[in-house]
Amino acid sequence: MRVGIASLDDNQRVALWESAMELSPAQRAITILAAHLPTVPFDALQRWTLVGRDHALLLAYRSQFGEGIQVEGRCHACDTKTQLAFTVSDLLESSSDTLKAAVYCIGSRDESGNQYKHQHTQASLVDTDVYVPSYYLIAFSGNEYRFRLPTTQDLVLIQASSSSSNNSGGITTKHVCERLLDQASFNDLCAVFADKHSQGSATERTKNEREQQDKGLESEEQKAWTSTLDALEQEMLRIEPLTIVSLNASCPECGAQTQHQFDIGHQYWALLAADVEKQLWDVHILATAYGWSSDAILSMSPARRRQHIAMVIS
Ligand SMILES: [Zn+2]
Repeated sequence: MRVGIASLDDNQRVALWESAMELSPAQRAITILAAHLPTVPFDALQRWTLVGRDHALLLAYRSQFGEGIQVEGRCHACDTKTQLAFTVSDLLESSSDTLKAAVYCIGSRDESGNQYKHQHTQASLVDTDVYVPSYYLIAFSGNEYRFRLPTTQDLVLIQASSSSSNNSGGITTKHVCERLLDQASFNDLCAVFADKHSQGSATERTKNEREQQDKGLESEEQKAWTSTLDALEQEMLRIEPLTIVSLNASCPECGAQTQHQFDIGHQYWALLAADVEKQLWDVHILATAYGWSSDAILSMSPARRRQHIAMVIS
């Protein structure tokens, strides 16, 4: 489905900030997307891959705040503040060909030729079908298994089950693998790992030895799932390099290189919060002076708003 990702007006930005303030980062990211993509059902957004979500957030960020991204970090060696500056296009350039091909029209007009509201930013058209998870093949010991990229739904379920009281051990790598592999592949791998388990149990042992060995086999199985997940993660990164965005900053003081992981959801939210704070000061000043409603003030053109504020202040 081809949809436009355009910018939000002042009222919409304040409403988004208000509705997403108390949410977890995962739910907040989806709420931001829902504001920019009102025609896509919330459920569908949650079923998008995490990398698809972040890709759409980059487009939303560009339509709202423009190309430039600036982040601050700390040098790992001497703790000096470092600045990183890059663009949304830089990051999109590092994505897979599939994602690159999905953004096939960028401009200041939508499909019907209507101009988007803010000319300084770029609205995008994106084919959201590429955000829907599909299955890929991966080979372990000569056998092929099917897996997909993780989604927000996976993240929410994993977080819920690791924080629930009846699961004191938390979520295991096996559970994560179960979600990412298709049912048949997961069953096959369970059988492979259990086979190893039963081979080990066949020999005769004393009770103590058996308990010791069972523990050993349990951690053997855990290790097998951990290395399965590691392999899946590497393959995901190969399929979709945008999965993890890490950036290198060199320290202006000592020259050391520090790697930073960039999170577009966090970046969008930081800019939105700063922007809304400014808007609310405008509302405060003008509502106090003239008694106008928040809605009326936020709907005013920026030029007219600045003029009224200048009059109040003088
Ligand atoms: Zn340094």
